[in-house]
Amino acid sequence: MTIGVAVLGSTGSVGTSTLRVLQRQRDRFHVVALTAFGSEELLKQQAAGFGADFVGLVNGSNGAGAAGCIGSDCLVEAATHPDVEIVVNAIVGAAGLEATVAALKAQKRVALANKETLVMAGDLVTRTARECGGELIPVDSEHSAVLQCITGRPEIELKRLILTASGGPFREWDRDRLKTARVEDALRHPTWQMGRKITVDSATLANKALEVIEAHHLFGLPYDAVEVVVHPQSIVHAFTEFVDGSVLAQVGFPTMELPILYALTHPERVQDDATRAFDPIEAGPLTFEAVRHDDFPTFSLGVEAGRTGGTQPTVFNAANEVAVRSFLEGRIEFGRIPDVIENVLNAHQVTTADDLVAVVEADRWARKETENRC
Ligand code: NAD
Ligand code: MG
Repeated sequence: MTIGVAVLGSTGSVGTSTLRVLQRQRDRFHVVALTAFGSEELLKQQAAGFGADFVGLVNGSNGAGAAGCIGSDCLVEAATHPDVEIVVNAIVGAAGLEATVAALKAQKRVALANKETLVMAGDLVTRTARECGGELIPVDSEHSAVLQCITGRPEIELKRLILTASGGPFREWDRDRLKTARVEDALRHPTWQMGRKITVDSATLANKALEVIEAHHLFGLPYDAVEVVVHPQSIVHAFTEFVDGSVLAQVGFPTMELPILYALTHPERVQDDATRAFDPIEAGPLTFEAVRHDDFPTFSLGVEAGRTGGTQPTVFNAANEVAVRSFLEGRIEFGRIPDVIENVLNAHQVTTADDLVAVVEADRWARKETENRC
């Protein structure tokens, strides 16, 4: 018997990488459910190719009949499908939250690429996993690196994490030039091919702030113990320091297929011949630099929101999503992204984020406030 998998967001960058991994691992896994937002033609092809039982389309249908289920309810339905053991959540943004919570309640393993889920409702999501018996395994390459370093070790041995950041396309740009960066500049990521939202997040370094919050929740470390270093080659994915001072790192040429596969098989490792063999000489010199906090204020705003806790990270996430969309649509300049987010964070009355109602309300409020400023 092979393991049933649902891929939410199957048409995106992580979703299509996941299907490539599943195609190679057919003797271990089979695809039960697929969902997408738009991209109906691709979804239809994927469903036919993998013989998926359940196909969900969140928005619109041109009548081609790709989907058995239409509308946002299909996400929870796919995530809780009785034949599914692992839910790969590769949805972008806050839209992935409900499905993550529902899958954990149904005691599934959630292979989580959708980091926004943990940023907007980290306490709620990790508590749901603990109380209901679901499992939360990161797909994000830095967090997968950490998991690979700590697997088999008792929690109390872990002391500090250093996540690496490529620095994005603007690593060498000065502040004045940054203000006027165009959409096409921001979408030119030096080391990773990803969806548009995360690519802009990498350019502002919002992505790394989201990842610091994600690491705090996944590994139960205080914010002071989660650091970030810029590493332009993206070869070292994270450093993990233990209480005796020893540091382990996970390294490799950048590919999401390896962390995706590991999230499916953790704590085991399985043969995968498609991974590009590592060659330290080809990887070339590895360099590390400090984050330029003053030039990339979105990073500090995000980490600070995480430290504040409650609904503040929810608001950071929502404001960032709306500001990034506005930038991509040409409504605000790149340099306005952190200003808009900061104004919304300052206007927010922080409350606890213990339940879904509080999280959804803070998310809704922040989206409206941000729209008004864009
Ligand atoms: P993407 O834009 O390429 O794909 C997003 C997928 O989600 C698509 O299948 C789309 O149909 C679906 N989707 C979009 N809006 C939706 C909605 N409202 N409801 C339901 N489904 C919706 O994005 P991506 O680059 O694959 O990133 C997905 C997630 O993985 C993000 O949270 C991102 O931060 C994270 N991530 C991505 C990478 C990467 O290499 N791309 C690496 C690490 C983490
Ligand atoms: Mg990452």
